[in-house]
Amino acid sequence: MSVIYNRVALIGLGLIAGSMAHAMRRAGLAGEIVGTARSPQTRAIAADIGLCDRITATVAEAVQGADLVVLCVPPGAMGAVAAEIAPHLAQGATVSDVGSVKRDVITQVGPHIPAGVHFVPAHPLAGTEHSGPRAGFAELFDNRYVLLTPEPGTDAAAVARLRALWEGCGARVEEMDADHHDLVLAVTSHTPHLIAYTMVGVADDLRRVTDSEVIKYSAAGFRDFTRIAASDPTMWRDVFLTNKDATLEILGRFTEELFALQRAIRRGDGDHLHAYFTRTRAIRRGIIEAGQDTDAPDFGRMKAKREPAEG
Ligand code: NAP
Repeated sequence: MSVIYNRVALIGLGLIAGSMAHAMRRAGLAGEIVGTARSPQTRAIAADIGLCDRITATVAEAVQGADLVVLCVPPGAMGAVAAEIAPHLAQGATVSDVGSVKRDVITQVGPHIPAGVHFVPAHPLAGTEHSGPRAGFAELFDNRYVLLTPEPGTDAAAVARLRALWEGCGARVEEMDADHHDLVLAVTSHTPHLIAYTMVGVADDLRRVTDSEVIKYSAAGFRDFTRIAASDPTMWRDVFLTNKDATLEILGRFTEELFALQRAIRRGDGDHLHAYFTRTRAIRRGIIEAGQDTDAPDFGRMKAKREPAEG
């Protein structure tokens, strides 16, 4: 693979930025990778493990001369970071982000982008429940989707270049309207996370069993919930605050379906339950056929080094 950007600046040095740095290095996609984070501790760890070619103390220094700047901070922090970098951006540069919510990030960041700088929002559908500069790894994006949500009229060459970077990082890239992205993700990721948080919260409320039975006998279902519910609290707080409408819409539908299933259980309506579970089982088969998971027992996790989950 050849160099796609001469200098990439990563703002925020957590799981996603770290994984981008590893993946870009693996394929030789960036001439130089510069990184910065708000806390001296994170910058020190990143420097210590050689995450980037250069770590800077300020975002102004980080973006100087960069032809790609990627905002890798929580969704709620994007606007403030964009305001900080704006005066220092090079003409012709592209600004992108990796936020799990797109419309709100566009609203926050868009107004700060100077003329002559391209803004191409992106969301890699890949992640784990781990955070911080040590959490990243080069294979995170392999065969996973990255959704680009440029506004109409965005420079096509800038979009194509960012697409090439993500493909070089191992991802499959698609373009999508930002509002549509937020609705799709509310269904596939945001609401499921909220349900996992709730289920683990409910189990914890039953304190008399938490320390013993719930943990000891936790079958895959509950264990999966606890893994998802261990995801970063700041990021997920921001996801729900910034994707409010779509999440509330999906939660409303979820609640209606839950009531219908509750009624079927109460009335002993086995046909309803069986038909429902047959339909959902077919969805699982579709995911496997699309190559987005494995049909190995226990989802192949006995062997897997890391278990994917995405924001
Ligand atoms: P992370 O590991 O927690 O790292 C977050 C980084 O952002 C850290 O360097 C942190 O700096 C910095 N940061 C936090 N709050 C900030 C603020 N208010 N102002 C400036 N910097 C701040 O997070 P991540 O998982 O890489 O997530 C980064 C972005 O990727 C988020 O927008 C998230 O929605 C998106 N995303 C995450 C996943 C996932 O599964 N984790 C998947 C896809 C997309 P310090 O370390 O110095 O505190």
